Amino acid sequence: MNARRFRVDGIVQGVGFRPFVYRTAASLGLDGWVANVNGHVEGEVTGPPRAIHEFAVRLRSDAPVLARVRQVRLTAVAGQPAYASGFHVRRSAPAAADRAPREIPPDAAICDACLRELRDPRDRRHRYPFINCTDCGPRATIIEDLPYDRVRTTMRHFPTCPACAAEYADPADRRFHAEPIACPVCGPEAAWEGLRGEPAVRAAVETVAGGGIVAVKGLGGYQLVCDAGDPAAVAELRRRKHRPAKPFAVMVRDLGAAARLARISATEHAALTSPERPVVLLARQRLRGAPPLAGGVHPGLTRVGLFLPTTGLHHLLLDDLDRPLVVTSGNRSDEPIAIDDTEAVRALSSVADGFLTHDRPIRSRYDDSVVQFTGRTRITIRRARGLAPTPLPLAVREPVAGAGAQLKHTFTLAADGKAHLGPHTGDLADTATHDAFLASYDHLKRLTGVEPVALAHDLHPGYLSTRWATRQPLRRIPVQHHHAHVAACAAEHGVRGPFLGVAYDGLGLGDDGTLWGGEILVADLSRYRRVGRFATAPLPGGDAAVRHPSRTALGQLLGGETLGSPRPYPWLTRPFTDRLDPAEVTAVRALVARDVNCPRASSAGRLFDTVAALLGLCDRVSYEGEAAVLLEAAAGSEHAVPLAHRVVRAQGLWVYDPAPTLTDLLERRVDGEPVRRLAAAFHLTLSIVTAELVARAVEEGAPRTVCLGGGCFVNRRLLTEVTRRLRAQGLRVLVGGRVPVGDGGISYGQAAVAAAQLAAER
Ligand SMILES: [Zn+2]
Ligand SMILES: [Zn+2]
Repeated sequence: MNARRFRVDGIVQGVGFRPFVYRTAASLGLDGWVANVNGHVEGEVTGPPRAIHEFAVRLRSDAPVLARVRQVRLTAVAGQPAYASGFHVRRSAPAAADRAPREIPPDAAICDACLRELRDPRDRRHRYPFINCTDCGPRATIIEDLPYDRVRTTMRHFPTCPACAAEYADPADRRFHAEPIACPVCGPEAAWEGLRGEPAVRAAVETVAGGGIVAVKGLGGYQLVCDAGDPAAVAELRRRKHRPAKPFAVMVRDLGAAARLARISATEHAALTSPERPVVLLARQRLRGAPPLAGGVHPGLTRVGLFLPTTGLHHLLLDDLDRPLVVTSGNRSDEPIAIDDTEAVRALSSVADGFLTHDRPIRSRYDDSVVQFTGRTRITIRRARGLAPTPLPLAVREPVAGAGAQLKHTFTLAADGKAHLGPHTGDLADTATHDAFLASYDHLKRLTGVEPVALAHDLHPGYLSTRWATRQPLRRIPVQHHHAHVAACAAEHGVRGPFLGVAYDGLGLGDDGTLWGGEILVADLSRYRRVGRFATAPLPGGDAAVRHPSRTALGQLLGGETLGSPRPYPWLTRPFTDRLDPAEVTAVRALVARDVNCPRASSAGRLFDTVAALLGLCDRVSYEGEAAVLLEAAAGSEHAVPLAHRVVRAQGLWVYDPAPTLTDLLERRVDGEPVRRLAAAFHLTLSIVTAELVARAVEEGAPRTVCLGGGCFVNRRLLTEVTRRLRAQGLRVLVGGRVPVGDGGISYGQAAVAAAQLAAER
């Protein structure tokens, strides 16, 4: 007989790991115990050496579906075991002085076994919205502290009934030590005004069926729900939420319902049904007999964001209504989603016709996650519920933090080889969002135990994340925006050496004080050198130009950087300028001529805006990236002939001069070429230009690994074409998969740069 102490690190709490250890040990006839200790699991086993070896193997190979086992360690134990025969699950040890960062399990969507019980009239949890087990249910959203036990979650308000207590204590039960265990007798209860339980759900169902808008308390916050096939309801939701055009996500009952609305690949299928249950952006199609979606759900777009029900409550709504539902963040415009019941009523009473709520508090705010696929390449657009805060690997030793950017804000806490990338919070300019960031940062710092010694932040002094960083009593490490983008990609893929970065996004502050956004960098994780860029153009009125692609286009036409080719001739631009308000054209002309409030930017995103405006697709945007999204949608699956283009050498850099491209675009438009062909031609042209910029850099000795970063690569057409062309040059091409490719990934990139710089100092 041997005795061994074991320790398992990874995501091992809140995922049914102790019951799994119990069953494994019991099946091998081992004596001993297991417990949650801070963020890991440890215990002792006594038995024949071969059985202990088998035990250690199975801890990895047979781990529960939600667990991520990073390390299993066995050590010898001297002397007699201090426990009785048999195997026991011990109470969690109190938080000790263990400084190792701890891992928080993300929320998991309802599992198939719980769904069967939900629909089984003979089950005691029939139609109970808060059904869960060790494989599913709330986690990150209810955890108040670690170790993860019911008493340190918001479920502590619900003492278990004898039946639930028996399941919780029975090692053979699939709810053995399921911390959020609940039933209609002892658990949370749905509510609608004065109604409780089943009548509350029925009231919500009737309101939605009658064309109303309902605020539903979901896992990580309130959501707004209406009938996705009802144009009036969708229009009313847009009006009340002050969200004129940004597409809404649609929840459907099951995969069959999803397949009637969109084409779904095997990869997308797997994502839709994963425990993370993200919104997946899919190619729209409509099969015969399928209920139509109101046009207002995703105006002007060919892709639709679909997701499957996350909780029992969502399943009840979908089962009863049996139609696709708009399910969108419960907020007004740029505010964070509401999680507190009183706050929800304040924020949403002017939006919702009723509240389907419940009495289980939400501790942490997690919006719905959004992903999309280009072939099998996954792009994360928003990393939140289900995905965050699962740690991502990062070569980091000393604890560091990344303060993030401004829009699509996230922060990162990293130490000991792991980066805890916090959930998406939104636009920091909103005061409530800023407060939500601070609360989320403090909470995650406390839970993970990461005490940063250095704080990385953007160069932009106006970002609220930068201002916050400068007030922290920590060493600060400024990181250029586009370096952070491509470093995020490189770090996620474990690139150690130098690489070539292609960073295309809206705007970020460069190290020369101008705005960047179409950048070719030779970099490693600690440093970078700019080797190529897009030509600059003025943004007349600064932020006003960002909101008005027509202004950006005017700026480009009137003041685009002169690189030896003529700007488009006035007779070509007249159809465009004639369409605009003459007073605005005059005002913009004056701004550009006098160079007043006209910051210059070398931005790929702004060039998308310019082309969208020139083609008459979008003169003003109501959400970031709208013009580019419409341009991509307009291109559809058209094949195209590339537009004229030119790459020149200027100030020691390779520079893309878009003037010939725009002239060609306008000429072909005047000649009657359809907008969709020209939209496709522009995408094609940008990919050719990118390949050329990269090729020139490689000829000069740049590395042959290319890391793509920045929000422009959410554009599937651009990503596909750029990747194909670079691979055809024999280059290795990488793009962010689990780290958001847009500004949501900046904090991770900042942390990667900070870690590399600290390591280089040693
Ligand atoms: Zn379950
Ligand atoms: Zn119960």
